[in-house]
Amino acid sequence: MPDFDAIIAGGGIVGSSAALCLARLDRRVLLVDSKVPQTSGLNDEFDVRTVALSPRSINLLESLDSMADVRRGPIKRIHVWEREGTATVGFDANEIGAKALAEVVEVSALVRRLWTSLVDRVEVRAPSTIEAVECYGETVELVIDKDVVSTACFVVAEGRESSTLKQLGISTQNYGSMGRAIGTVAKTVDPHNGCALQHFGDGILAFLPLPEKRSVSVVWSLPAGRYDQLLTLDGSAFAAALTHESESVLGEVAEVGERLGFPFGQSLVSDFNPMPRVLVIGDAARTVHPLAGQGVNLGLEDVQGIQEVTRHLKGDMGENNVWRRFAIRRHARARVMLQLMDFFDRTYRASGPYGRWARNLGVRTVNKVPALKYQLMREAMGLGPLATLY
Ligand SMILES: Cc1cc2nc3c(=O)[nH]c(=O)nc-3n(C[C@H](O)[C@H](O)[C@H](O)COP(=O)(O)OP(=O)(O)OC[C@H]3O[C@@H](n4cnc5c(N)ncnc54)[C@H](O)[C@@H]3O)c2cc1C
Repeated sequence: MPDFDAIIAGGGIVGSSAALCLARLDRRVLLVDSKVPQTSGLNDEFDVRTVALSPRSINLLESLDSMADVRRGPIKRIHVWEREGTATVGFDANEIGAKALAEVVEVSALVRRLWTSLVDRVEVRAPSTIEAVECYGETVELVIDKDVVSTACFVVAEGRESSTLKQLGISTQNYGSMGRAIGTVAKTVDPHNGCALQHFGDGILAFLPLPEKRSVSVVWSLPAGRYDQLLTLDGSAFAAALTHESESVLGEVAEVGERLGFPFGQSLVSDFNPMPRVLVIGDAARTVHPLAGQGVNLGLEDVQGIQEVTRHLKGDMGENNVWRRFAIRRHARARVMLQLMDFFDRTYRASGPYGRWARNLGVRTVNKVPALKYQLMREAMGLGPLATLY
């Protein structure tokens, strides 16, 4: 019998949620990470790395007791507009009888909370290095810090730069948009009132509401030249650039915190179950344009898929063909999302009067047809037919 039912490589939000889910289903789990998450206490300032979690993701994390002490900024409304466009689109949680469309949380706080929850249930090795992986018929063998350990199922959740995928010769394909984004936390003169703002102009600028009413998490996806120039600005010049780009929608941006540059791109793994006992999930499996705000949400859908299969499993976790249906569905779901994001990105980059006219017509149509808006909101919340089909 292998040493573990599952070994999970990567303890980010997705990998540690998967570890916790499997442990709660009485599986023997080992979680391996090359780093240990920061354990220092929470700062007063919100962390620069944030994610907007859909209600579906929050339900999963709450069922794992992993949202306690995690500060949450509810998104009650979303307002999207374009600099030179005439049309805007707005979404409101009230329109579908929900309290919030999503909630903004700090990545570091959530990971810390997940690691605290899994301490008693999951064996953890961190910081550790996976030196080799060999797949056999009945088991997968790993060499971790010179120890040989075996598992019925090996789950790769190492994020976008997975060295284990490379080691196993598993390929990922780039899918449309690549670029860079700047993230920061900003203080504004006017309160956000729980509204997330997304502006299409010089790149795509998003303000996500934080628990403090005049604080927003900023993600600005930019063309290459403009990215380089903006990163060299000092704090006050960058704040002024944000005020200008946001068309002072929250008044002046009074202050910005630490700024981080992120590369982003869309990619998709060839198969979520590329070898009989190997699964790939989270950003290791696919990365999506940040304009969607869906990366973690899709990763947590993978976790729910694993939870569902395992719950009904009679034999071991690598049993013949047990993961094929899961892999096909997750691949199809990722492809739909990547194509949609690529379409939005191209549409918004199309310049010229005809492109703008078509774009504005589309936006106005969405805004004026309540049934269409309702469906779009349900999909983004992870509750629509497309989100639940896969
Ligand atoms: C600017 C920006 C904004 C975003 N906003 C949102 C949003 O609003 N909503 C949303 O849903 N998503 C958002 N995303 C995407 C989201 O951040 C990612 O989808 C998510 O963090 C991926 O989680 P993960 O656990 O799969 O990977 P990661 O968070 O990358 O975690 C990977 C883990 O694996 C470990 N690891 C790496 N290599 C190894 C190895 N060789 N061996 C062992 N361990 C290893 C790492 O230390 C890490 O702990 C955004 C992304 C960006 C760039």
